[in-house]
Amino acid sequence: TALIEIEDLTVKYPGRRVPALEHLQLQLRAGETALLLGPSGSGKSTLALTFNGLIPHSIGKLQSGHVRVTGLDTRQTTVATLAQRVGILFQDPEAQFVMFTVEDEIAFGLENLCFSPDEMERRISESLRLVGLTELRYRRVEQLSGGEKQRVALAALLALEPEILVFDEPTANLDPQGTREVFNLLRRCKETGRYTIVLIEHRLDELMDLVERMVVLGKRGEVIINGEPREVLRTH
Ligand code: ADP
Ligand code: ADP
Repeated sequence: TALIEIEDLTVKYPGRRVPALEHLQLQLRAGETALLLGPSGSGKSTLALTFNGLIPHSIGKLQSGHVRVTGLDTRQTTVATLAQRVGILFQDPEAQFVMFTVEDEIAFGLENLCFSPDEMERRISESLRLVGLTELRYRRVEQLSGGEKQRVALAALLALEPEILVFDEPTANLDPQGTREVFNLLRRCKETGRYTIVLIEHRLDELMDLVERMVVLGKRGEVIINGEPREVLRTH
């Protein structure tokens, strides 16, 4: 069964004549890693934002169609609940930082969820371990490298124990070292087998072996290609 189910999705930003996404159909299976491609402005980021409800909540009636993630209709589910199902790692990790210590950044998203102190501690230490930042727990985030900041941002997402992880060009602003760190982590996330992963990334060669489905969006934000990478690369 599909973990992400998108049916006839059209998204129009206020004041824009042309929709960012138009009559989009897409289904992703649980555990699958999908690569999302398309020219700049084709709606990749917009699509990612519909997964955790940020689009319908911010622009109201300008979305039509259905987006269901982990069986939940995103329009009938709060952003707080969706954040526990879908984690999105963006280009700029600082946009989601409150700018304290590494531990604070991770605890921040957990704070309103009423976990016991033991459960908080378990989630913080486990996510730090997953991203390899246990040693930097009490460091201030502003002192970290770009790659380390992205790892903190990812740890904060992982602490919410989502089923879906979206990587929206998280290496776009990183140097080669930072890029390697993020790609390695992506591999590690894949290896845990816990996540359905959506990857928005131009540098294909380095990650192609992880990808089980390729989805290409066209200029009008519609799906123009959707299939297994080998099949897609053979026929296009
Ligand atoms: P991509 O991620 O593929 O580059 P985006 O989802 O960022 O595409 O953008 C899709 C289209 O929607 C583009 O035409 C972009 O200019 C427009 N768009 C994106 N975000 C906004 C916004 N907040 N307000 C108005 N238009 C937007
Ligand atoms: P990407 O690298 O994913 O294509 P963009 O540069 O398209 O990102 O967008 C970066 C940010 O600017 C996003 O938050 C997007 O919603 C916003 N944005 C993009 N296009 C527009 C636009 N035409 N008007 C207003 N905001 C926009």
